[in-house]
Amino acid sequence: MRMDPLIVLSGVNKHFGQLHVLRDIDLTIGRGEVVVVIGPSGSGKSTLCRAINRLEPVESGTITIDGQPLPSEGKELAKLRADVGMVFQSFNLFAHKTVLQNVALAPVKVRGHSRAEADRRARELLDRVGLLAHADKYPAQMSGGQQQRVAIARALAMDPKALLFDEPTSALDPEMINEVLEVMQQLARDGMTMVVVTHEMGFARSAANRVVFMADGLIVEDRVPEEFFTAPRSERAKDFLSKIL
Ligand code: ADP
Ligand code: MG
Repeated sequence: MRMDPLIVLSGVNKHFGQLHVLRDIDLTIGRGEVVVVIGPSGSGKSTLCRAINRLEPVESGTITIDGQPLPSEGKELAKLRADVGMVFQSFNLFAHKTVLQNVALAPVKVRGHSRAEADRRARELLDRVGLLAHADKYPAQMSGGQQQRVAIARALAMDPKALLFDEPTSALDPEMINEVLEVMQQLARDGMTMVVVTHEMGFARSAANRVVFMADGLIVEDRVPEEFFTAPRSERAKDFLSKIL
């Protein structure tokens, strides 16, 4: 699995003022791999995702996607963001656009697809997330779980090489969490490369190839889920697991 690296971070450091939020991060994510990132609040999980997508510049170290260093601006940066899609806790859909438009917009603007082709593909993806019947609705007419599934379809519409998820179910009412996790499970089964920050340990156990445990800006453990959950090595991880499980 790790023979074919897609995302490689090496010696990555980032501060916010005095706060050292990413400390010498080395992390390789193989093509098709699903890596769940967990850790206490403030440990740097979101910053890690944002660094991979260059929403946050880093101070030192290198990040490469498919062998290419992260671009810093312009067309190349837009392409990177299309190649590495991100799904946030807040769905960030365009409120004044329909579901179909939300999914079809960027492929036209960034990828240069025709409207007809983008619409066709958007319908295919909405079908995949179980929302084809809602194509002409506006986000406000849908539940949070449905909106998050639209956000996933929107990310997929760019044909990304990898998807980053930053607590995709944390803003959802409990009864809507599973419909989103099921879509993510299916993506994982279909071979999508995924980095998922989540507190959903059931998802980590069933979908992840690896669990990366972060604390205070460090990767403290990087293990297969079964080992991590049954025999965490670090005190930090033991303490964290005792609080959430
Ligand atoms: P996590 O996602 O694991 O909760 P974050 O990556 O969001 O952690 O944040 C790591 C630390 O960096 C936290 O202490 C947070 O308050 C701080 N931080 C995050 N973003 C900023 C920012 N833009 N400016 C200053 N501090 C920040
Ligand atoms: Mg976070």
